[in-house]
Amino acid sequence: MNTANHITQDDLYLFALQLLPEADMKSAAMHLKECAVCRAQLGEIQGDLVTYALTAESQTPPSQARERLLRQVAAEKKVIPVDPVEQQIEPVLYPRNSRMYQMDAPEEREPRRLAPVLAWVGWGVAACLAVVAGMQVDQRKLVEQDMAVVTAQLSQSVAQSEQSKAVMQTLQNASAMQVALHIPLNAGAVPKLDPEAHATYVPETGALVFVADHLDPLQAQKTYELWLLPAEAGQAPIPAGLFKPDANGNASVVMPDLPRGVTAKGFGVTVENDGGSKTPTAPIVLAGM
Ligand SMILES: [Zn+2]
Repeated sequence: MNTANHITQDDLYLFALQLLPEADMKSAAMHLKECAVCRAQLGEIQGDLVTYALTAESQTPPSQARERLLRQVAAEKKVIPVDPVEQQIEPVLYPRNSRMYQMDAPEEREPRRLAPVLAWVGWGVAACLAVVAGMQVDQRKLVEQDMAVVTAQLSQSVAQSEQSKAVMQTLQNASAMQVALHIPLNAGAVPKLDPEAHATYVPETGALVFVADHLDPLQAQKTYELWLLPAEAGQAPIPAGLFKPDANGNASVVMPDLPRGVTAKGFGVTVENDGGSKTPTAPIVLAGM
């Protein structure tokens, strides 16, 4: 379990007791959030601590839990206070992750360790209930934070899908008001919009409704002529009506005399002499396929 990536058991105990330096508490908490292995181990340790804390007053802790705690606490050398006498001579601050303490000969360490360890355990027991309770609050906080994030993401996607539903309903609503917006015209200015037209054609019946806007005025003796362009290759354009724009450039051709059953690939408009012609004269001024 003491791999480089996991929290060492020592550190898990210290974490459970909230005795790690602040930065390490944070990184351990982050790791625990991600790592199920270390979480499981922490849970085990917390269980031991709780058991020990709850039974400490009765002086009969379950031996296994007690031994485990004592073993861990004893093994934890980083927090054992340096002997005050030694400290006076030469105060040495070991970096937390330093392995320098391992340089000590075991026989030298043993006597010094006993008292601090006992004090340590006493302190640990006293603090345990509060600390473990605190840990549980902390873990619950982490879970609650995660839940808050997930809930926020959920409600966001619900809102998004509801919005796209509303967009679809709006676009599909037949009674919706349709407004086209253009650059506003200055008062008195003559609108200069490109000629455009729209044809609605039913091949089976030969029914055609054609509406044109913004047509350029015609010279005298001239007319616009509409052509049906058959889809079948080699078929000539079929005359589909003559029209002249009104003062506003509007014109229409409604139900011209057309053969039934002609599939059209499109429509075209040319300018012809009054009376129209049998074949279109270039150029085609409007075309749609
Ligand atoms: Zn881990």
